[in-house]
Order: sequence, then C-alpha cells, then structure tokens
Amino acid sequence: MRLLVVEDEHKIAAALKKGLEQENYAVDLAYDGEEGYDFASTEDYAVIILDLMLPKMDGVTVCKKLREDNIHTPILMLTAKGELDDKVSGLNSGADDYLTKPFAFAELLARVKALTRRPKHTTQTKLKVADLTLNTNNYEVKRNAKVIQLSKKEFALLEYLMRHPNTILSKDQIIAHIWDYEADVLPNTVEVYIGYLRRKLPNLIHTIRGFGYKIGEAK
Ligand code: CA
Repeated sequence: MRLLVVEDEHKIAAALKKGLEQENYAVDLAYDGEEGYDFASTEDYAVIILDLMLPKMDGVTVCKKLREDNIHTPILMLTAKGELDDKVSGLNSGADDYLTKPFAFAELLARVKALTRRPKHTTQTKLKVADLTLNTNNYEVKRNAKVIQLSKKEFALLEYLMRHPNTILSKDQIIAHIWDYEADVLPNTVEVYIGYLRRKLPNLIHTIRGFGYKIGEAK
C-alpha cells in the first residue's frame, strides 16, 4: 500500500518513511502543504499522514481542498501540543483521525492500519448503521423511519461513531474529535454523552470495557 507523508520537519519525515517502509508500505514524502496537495490530488494513496503546521499551505487547508475536490483518501492529521486550538476544530476540514506529537511510532502505525481497513468514502453525508440513519446535510437522524431529536453535541458524537461502525473508539479519540476546541474535557464527559445517546437509541452503542465504545447492530 502506498502512503503519503506531508511533514516539513525533515528528520521526522525521514524517520516515518523508514519506519513505514519496514512495515512494507511504499512512502512518498512532501515537505510543504502545496507539494502535499499536488501529490494527494494526482496519486492514489491508501492513507495521507498530514502535519498541521506546514509552510505554504497548512494541513487544515490541504484537507479541506482535497475534500472539496471529492478526494476521500483517509487523512491522519499530526498536531503538536498547543496547536490543538480552534485551528484543529477545523476537524470539520475532513480529517479522519488525529495524533498529537510527540507520539510513539507504534501508535501511528496502529492508526494508519485502522484507516486502511476502513471503507473509502467515509466523508459521505448519509450514514447508516443497522436501522439508524444520519444525514449530515439536514442533520436528520432517523431510526426505523422515526425522527430522533439530538443536541448538537449528541449529533457530533453519533456522527463520529457512525463513521466508524463496529470499530472501538477510545475516549481520547472521541474527545479529540468532538471536543478538541474546548479545554479540560474529562473522559467522564464522554460517558455522560454516550449515556444521553443510549437513552435515545437503545441497544446500538456498546461499551468495550477498558477500551472505549463502538456502534453496531444490537446483539
Ligand atoms: Ca510542521
């Protein structure tokens, strides 16, 4: 499988390329946002690893432009601590996952593998899990054709779960995707919102003790 790494710090880029090649990936490197965008829009990659802070064009802009171009390659965004402000809340830019620097290579590899296992077109606007449908254009959630009313936060959480059906999502991942622009979110907050969703949508969201949550067909 072929990957693209867009990272302006040459040392990190080289280390990622070396590590990923040892895992039998083919790796292209780009050192600024424009180059990254050019590569990503002309070549077919399994996953794009995209640094947030880049010369010429930042990662959020690259991501947004690719999604506007209807390119749905999974994107793993790299951020440094402290960059997780509203810039990253451009999560709505269409990145699929986030990883904060410094990270262990094993963690990056696990995220990349998870992204390659996912079906393409996860940026689609109509999502379906079992008898539940969610439409990101009109914010309508229906179960068995019955409309379910959700708060904004509940909707965001449900959308994130539904984009990763039958996949265990940790509280940290959920926080990074749903609450990234808010300070001091506790893992407990995730539990509370999962609880709200469960009351409205029984038997769909499962707790995997010690790991996190997943959404899927009721057992
Ligand atoms: Ca950078």
